Amino acid sequence: MIMLTKGAEPAILAKNSEKWTTELEAEILNGGDNVSYRTSKYNTKEIKSALQEEVNGKCAYCESKLLHVTYGDIEHIVPKSTDIKLTFAWPNLTLACDKCNTYKAAKIGIYDPYGSNPELDFRFYGPMISHSPGSDVAEITHIELELNRAQLLERRHEKIKSLLTSLDRLANIADNQMRELLKNSIISHESSPEREFSACLKSLIETKRQRGEI
Ligand SMILES: [Zn+2]
Repeated sequence: MIMLTKGAEPAILAKNSEKWTTELEAEILNGGDNVSYRTSKYNTKEIKSALQEEVNGKCAYCESKLLHVTYGDIEHIVPKSTDIKLTFAWPNLTLACDKCNTYKAAKIGIYDPYGSNPELDFRFYGPMISHSPGSDVAEITHIELELNRAQLLERRHEKIKSLLTSLDRLANIADNQMRELLKNSIISHESSPEREFSACLKSLIETKRQRGEI
C-alpha cells in the first residue's frame, strides 16, 4: 500500500451527488425496490477514470494493477452502510481490486491510504507484508484483506526476483558512471507510484541501501 492523494471531484459527481443522495434516501424510506439501482449511480466511466488516475491504476490496498477492461471496483473507504450520505461523497471513494473489495466488504477500521502514510505503518519481509509495532489498524488491515494471500505473495516474489536480477547485472558494467546512472534509473522506475507493488520494492531497495549492497 502507498499513500494516495485525492484528486479533483469529477463534474458528474459534483453536479449530482446531492440529488443522488436525496433520491436514495427517499427510495430507502419508501421501502422501494430500486435501492441498488439508486446506490450504483456512482458507477460511471468518468468517476472510475478519475479514481484510476489517483490510485495510479492500482488497487488502493494491495497495489495490484487493475485491468484496463474492468477499471476495478469502486470502494467506499468508510462503508456506505455506516452512513448513507457517504455513498456519493467524493473523499470517501477509491478503487480496489475485486478480491480486496470482497474481503473489505462493510468492515470498519480498515487502513485509509489517503489519511495516513502506509510506508510508516506497514513493513515488508521479502514478499510478506506485516505491520510496524503499535500499528493496530495496519495489523487488522493486512489480516482482514488477506494481503498475504498466495496470489499476492507469488506476484510480489516475481517482482522481487526481477529487481534483484536487474541489480545483479549492474556488476557487469565496468564504467562507474554508467553503472551509477543505470542503478538510479532502475531504482527510480521500480519505486515509482505507477509500478505494481512499489511499496514492497521500495522497502527491498531501502534494506539493500542500508546494508551497503547498492
Ligand atoms: Zn487489492
